Amino acid sequence: MKVTVVRDILEANDRLAAENRAHFDRLGIRVVNLMSAPGAGKTTLLERTVAALGKEKRIGVIEGDIQTSLDAERIERAGAQAVQINTNGACHLDANMIAAAAKELDLEALELLVVENVGNLVCPAEFKVGEHAKAMILSLAEGDDKPAKYPLMFHESSVLLINKMDLAPYVDASADRIEETARKINPSIEVIRASCKTGEGLEGWYRWLRSL
Ligand code: MG
Ligand code: ZN
Repeated sequence: MKVTVVRDILEANDRLAAENRAHFDRLGIRVVNLMSAPGAGKTTLLERTVAALGKEKRIGVIEGDIQTSLDAERIERAGAQAVQINTNGACHLDANMIAAAAKELDLEALELLVVENVGNLVCPAEFKVGEHAKAMILSLAEGDDKPAKYPLMFHESSVLLINKMDLAPYVDASADRIEETARKINPSIEVIRASCKTGEGLEGWYRWLRSL
């Protein structure tokens, strides 16, 4: 019984996500669903992205957090439109939340919309929000066992950004092992190694966004 309920919820969400995406398509907006564990560097990556691409692409961000508007404030300071969703405990964003939040943005003025999901390696991968592609960040400090332990997110993502490569001398995790396991789960995943702190390696991410 429980399984049926969960499936119904996901099917209803898929329908609404398809409506969101059709709406974004009519407006010519490309949408990325950005996912990771808490603290992997999603907001820092978006600050960098707005600074690097803000002149060539009109970027907006929907921030998902359980509490606070800290991240939306950071994005606004970086110079992009941002709206904050507080899920009040819910551990992922869904299509219904995105439909409501999108109304708070001046969509006509946007070309690229990034949805920064709630920090969580599990259910954000199951709930579509109306995106054209999913992207994920795994920071090196989280360990190289994460693709094997949380395969769905790696399976669903078009691109994996391995962040905090500047920590490589200080942690035991191997980026080669992360990449190898991720590719076993998802042979077509694009893997980018970068440091959002130093900016090194982010050209690959910008290239991916430009080609979206
Ligand atoms: Mg954040
Ligand atoms: Zn959840």
